[in-house]
Amino acid sequence: MIDRRRIIGGNWKMNTTLPTAVDLAAAVSRQVGEDDTVETVLFPPFPNLDAVNQVIAGSTLQLGAQDLFWEDRGAYTGEVSPPMLLAVGCRWVLVGHSERRRLLGEGDDIVNKKLHAALRAGLLVTLAIGETREERRAGRTEPVLEEQLRGSLAGVTAEQMERIVIAYEPVWAIGTGDTATPDQARDAHACVRGVLREMFGPSVAGSTRIQYGGSVTAQNAAEILAEPGIDGALVGGASLKADEFAAIVRAAAQA
Ligand code: PEP
Repeated sequence: MIDRRRIIGGNWKMNTTLPTAVDLAAAVSRQVGEDDTVETVLFPPFPNLDAVNQVIAGSTLQLGAQDLFWEDRGAYTGEVSPPMLLAVGCRWVLVGHSERRRLLGEGDDIVNKKLHAALRAGLLVTLAIGETREERRAGRTEPVLEEQLRGSLAGVTAEQMERIVIAYEPVWAIGTGDTATPDQARDAHACVRGVLREMFGPSVAGSTRIQYGGSVTAQNAAEILAEPGIDGALVGGASLKADEFAAIVRAAAQA
């Protein structure tokens, strides 16, 4: 069954230690860990996954990893496989984040391999896409989003799309405090839905959840989440403060 509840992700990036991750997860769990009107997913760094999984056990919070490799095992120094993520309680995995695309050279071909590996293993996927400031200024936002969607989702079936959430994250808005306006986010989300319609048909386009990400805070969340085509948020900086992240989850519950 398609679940179009709003979905809020907290991407902790490389910002927690074991004790701070445990404290943060416990504080988020205390505040919104019984709310199931919103799907809330925490994405701690790999070394914190197991401990966070234990802290959130029994709550409505779900666990996700920030990345994965596309093979299950073997000589891949430094990589983490889909079965390893499942073994520490992950239900979700994030692929295609702009920091990995930009800093680690991950193109749509690699994102696509990771996405298929995650689906094969039974993980749910948050696929991040988004244009840079230069691309937006050059009027290329829509072709860039289309190219990333077509490349990252190549070979994916309409049925598999039920296991994928798209995160529209304009690169210029990530960590800058320069949030997209509701109009900019609405237009980009409409573009994403249009491409999904062409690729998979109207039913998938209508049922796929699309999050907005980029400097979402407790202050601006309600306005962004009030847009009908925006199904949630992927939150970086503000997810590191339990009170603020919980306020964003509550804003999603009320939107
Ligand atoms: C992110 O990195 O996914 C993100 C949205 O970060 P921030 O909220 O800090 O802009």
